[in-house]
Amino acid sequence: MSLAPLPFSSKVTVLRGLGPARAAALQEAGIDTLQDLLWSLPYRYVDRGSLRPLGSLEMRGFEASDSGIVTVLGTIQEVRQSTTRVQRMALTEALLADETGTLRLVWFNQPYLGRSLKAGDRLLVFGSLSMGRHGLEMRGPQFEVMERSGDIGWVRRYLPLYRKLGPLPGRARQKLVAEALGRVHPGEDWLPLELSKDLPDTLTALRLLHDPPDQSEARDLEAGTTPAHRRLASEELFAFSLGVALRRAGRLLRPGQKVPTSPELRERLRSFLPFHLTGAQRQAFKEIVGDITSGRVMNRLLQGDVGSGKTLVALLSMAMVAETGGQGALLVPTEVLARQHAASFRRYLGGEAGALQLLLGGMKAAEKRAALARIASGEARYVIGTHALFQEAVAFHRLQLVVVDEQQRFGVKQREALKEKGGDPHWLVMSATPIPRSLALAVFGDLDQSVLDELPPGRQPIASRLFKPDSAERAWELMRRELAEGRQAFVVSPSIDPSDEGKVQLRDIQAMEALLRGIFPEEALEVVHGRLKADDMAARMARFVSGEARILLATTVIEVGVDVPNATVMVVDHAERFGLSQLHQLRGRVGRGAHRSHFLMISGSENERLQTLVESQDGFRIAQRDLELRGPGEFFGVRQAGLPQFQVADLVRDRDLLLRCREAAGRVLAIGLTEAQAGWLKREQVRLRLADVS
Ligand code: ADP
Ligand code: MG
Repeated sequence: MSLAPLPFSSKVTVLRGLGPARAAALQEAGIDTLQDLLWSLPYRYVDRGSLRPLGSLEMRGFEASDSGIVTVLGTIQEVRQSTTRVQRMALTEALLADETGTLRLVWFNQPYLGRSLKAGDRLLVFGSLSMGRHGLEMRGPQFEVMERSGDIGWVRRYLPLYRKLGPLPGRARQKLVAEALGRVHPGEDWLPLELSKDLPDTLTALRLLHDPPDQSEARDLEAGTTPAHRRLASEELFAFSLGVALRRAGRLLRPGQKVPTSPELRERLRSFLPFHLTGAQRQAFKEIVGDITSGRVMNRLLQGDVGSGKTLVALLSMAMVAETGGQGALLVPTEVLARQHAASFRRYLGGEAGALQLLLGGMKAAEKRAALARIASGEARYVIGTHALFQEAVAFHRLQLVVVDEQQRFGVKQREALKEKGGDPHWLVMSATPIPRSLALAVFGDLDQSVLDELPPGRQPIASRLFKPDSAERAWELMRRELAEGRQAFVVSPSIDPSDEGKVQLRDIQAMEALLRGIFPEEALEVVHGRLKADDMAARMARFVSGEARILLATTVIEVGVDVPNATVMVVDHAERFGLSQLHQLRGRVGRGAHRSHFLMISGSENERLQTLVESQDGFRIAQRDLELRGPGEFFGVRQAGLPQFQVADLVRDRDLLLRCREAAGRVLAIGLTEAQAGWLKREQVRLRLADVS
């Protein structure tokens, strides 16, 4: 029987091998169409030549694959669940057998394995060998449950393995994929030639990846670096880039509030500053002024290293609006930061400081009422606040500019809420740390960008060092010396999730407080962390800012904004618990005054990674490294709203591809989309959940 070819957009339910229950499970897992199914690639390719008979395994002289990983296939004879005597850990043991011998498999702390694995199960197992008390064994191996009898599906050299989707085992998926590959018909190629030349067509690419020919290299297949991968990744990235380009084009067509500024005003504002702007600040300010006077809506990302003077550019931009009859709002993630910004704005504004208004969730009712009234009347022209600014009760007189500090912590919904409050205000988004270009394009691609790639003059590099816990004494000694000179010190402790306790030996903030009080009994110390009430937190911070307290022990609540020029030492405990960018951001809290500053990390592990900070003070470089090591999802520290979810493309690996797709999208858009491109773009937006793109 021959069946009509199916488009990619067909529902998976057309597949004969799929009953309603499994179809529902697939849907649950986000696999709705043939394209969804085919674009989730195998995560591993097992080389049949690497399968070892159990009887041939031995410890000495054993030639494993390059990685030391051995692959075996066998049937479980028995499973035993117990608890280790000393550390009280769950211990799961299974005895695996084939015709040639047996092997003991051991897992720690995964008690569910004891329930899910059964005698008679056939497993394909990957792991490295160790010598245990009972002979050879594999500790914590990965495995795949295979069908109990029959051929496990070797047609060629490679057996592709798929992740289990809900109740659908990887093996069942393999069959579905084979059927889909046989029946799908991709239609017209919609990639522009500049991207598709040298690449296989879509269907060929999918076949190469789901059923690789014998001459393929497993390493390339798993790394995602073959031309076939590039074909699929280009399709995703090009669809994404087109969507972003369309969104930007849509914004540029929208009329925006025209701020009536003048070169004289710009000059006058600059003359209030106690110093000259850096070249980069001047350029960024010029770009912002260009936007807000253009009659279109500004949507700009201001990026720059810690201390490059972003806040100052924001202040100038708000002043531009405030001086011409409008209101500017600065949105920040924490109350500490809001107060800090308000204090520094007041210093700059001098006689104009009366036009500034704070709005915080923690305000007393009467105070809040007064603040709201001043915002509604327009008397408040500089409004600084936290999420409280989103509340319905907040009405502006004439909101023209919103500056968002630390953009990644605000969701799209909240931005929309604020947009409702004014006649489509201009947006300036500031990122706390530099964002690598590929990521900036992926997340903020529809925003115009200004980059502060220059630090104000006279900054001294911050002496950065790494100490093993057993030489932490030297860090405290350095800190003691600085305190003796009259300087102040930050000590940072990681916030510890209760579920982490016991797993690793971690020193929490209470233990650190006790330690510090022991080492520095004569120094006034304040402790701040995220669980304090807002006014308590503010009072403690104020004592440190005024110099009354000499040591501030904190969790990462001090990560952003805190500006105490007299603080010249920061000690970070358990530095391995932080991302590189986050540490660099923390480091930016010192080195703000005339004195040489020190950044001291204490860490018992990952010292190679942390060494990057000792060697470099370049936030852009550190950010790139951080992204490479931890991937886009972790880079921002919190889940990034708007981070596109690609099935094949990888923002680190494929960053050059993203740049090329972006350029191609610009060109294609200028000419107009073909029908095939328009249809495909619509489909991709659904598949990749690019809901934000319209
Ligand atoms: P960022 O927000 O980029 O981390 P800030 O705007 O907080 O940086 O500036 C860091 C410090 O540098 C502040 O103390 C600020 O007053 C100072 N500063 C900013 N711009 C200049 C400049 N052009 N010249 C001298 N100092 C500056
Ligand atoms: Mg700042």
